[in-house]
Amino acid sequence: MTDFKVDTILAHAGINADEKTGALISPIYLSTTYQHPEFGKSTGFDYTRTKNPTRLTLEKTLAAIEKADYALVTSSGMSALVLLFSGFPVGSKVVAARDLYGGSFRWFNEQEANGRFEFTYTNTEEEMIAAISEETDYVYIETPTNPLMIEFDIEKIAKLAHVHGAKVIVDNTFYSPIYQNPIPLGADVVLHSATKYLSGHNDVLAGVLVTSDQAIYEKLFYDQNTTGPTLSPIDSYLLMRGLKTLSLRMERSTSNAQKVVDYLQSSPAVKEVLYTGKGGMISLKVKDQGRIGHILNHLQVFTFAESLGGVESLITYPATQTHADIPAEVRHSYGLTDDLLRLSIGIEDVEDLIADLKQALEG
Ligand SMILES: *Cc1c(COP(=O)(O)O)cnc(C)c1O
Repeated sequence: MTDFKVDTILAHAGINADEKTGALISPIYLSTTYQHPEFGKSTGFDYTRTKNPTRLTLEKTLAAIEKADYALVTSSGMSALVLLFSGFPVGSKVVAARDLYGGSFRWFNEQEANGRFEFTYTNTEEEMIAAISEETDYVYIETPTNPLMIEFDIEKIAKLAHVHGAKVIVDNTFYSPIYQNPIPLGADVVLHSATKYLSGHNDVLAGVLVTSDQAIYEKLFYDQNTTGPTLSPIDSYLLMRGLKTLSLRMERSTSNAQKVVDYLQSSPAVKEVLYTGKGGMISLKVKDQGRIGHILNHLQVFTFAESLGGVESLITYPATQTHADIPAEVRHSYGLTDDLLRLSIGIEDVEDLIADLKQALEG
């Protein structure tokens, strides 16, 4: 399957996976256990925590679209993060970008407080490059960052990290495999909150870990089987169904977002627009912070809710939602100020999106 282009792999996700019946669409295998043909023989499936046919089909698709050898799906993005880091030796030193998903930061902080890992946070790519040394065991980045939308050069960071024997982990949730494949750029592990763009419909909570390093994969597989953060067969099926339209959704979100950015840049109510040029995520800073409540209360097409990457547009206020666990002085020190709103642009008609923003921001 890896020989085909991404759009073909996505459209064909899970088809013809059932040799027994020829079912076009992969069945949802709910069985938790599997009958052995005879003593000493296995069909390859024994127990669903270890391996499930629906989940396996999904994992093959995810590895292929990330141009990697292996993928594991987990019960959430956070359980993917915890599964990965729990396998690292106590005392590991991690260099991480400061502008992180709030939940990742919250867990990292707890690990540090418990003396498990040491974190060095950096605000910019230059600071990160200066911070990576012989001491570093892991480098952790989200690119673009959340919510400041700063891009990091994965290839450059991976080259440097590898010189020092460090492994690089990239949270690729925002760009998805459509706009970025970190493994061919040198990353050792890719993480996704598949709750976002990969599933795309705000109805599945899921995580993904991708790698081409066999030793890392085997450790993750062993740990996942031991501790159990797997994705249920029904959710695996829903995620596979969502994946089929990933590239269409990303294309539409991007073209909508580009037009929304044009409007925002011309709006008298907006101080600053943060957008990388691709993808559906936009952050904006408003001129009058006192109007945040009014804006959030008056939007009709955008829904005021956490999360991102779905077909419907959402607006988030990171200071009280996704990033509330980062102390205000820390947030302000790196530019996540209380005048910032984050938009996840969906696939609606862009004229409705712009009109909605205009009446709420300027009305
Ligand atoms: C949502 C999110 C996570 C956490 O994923 P869940 O599926 O909510 O557990 C991690 N990283 C990023 C960038 C996210 O947006």
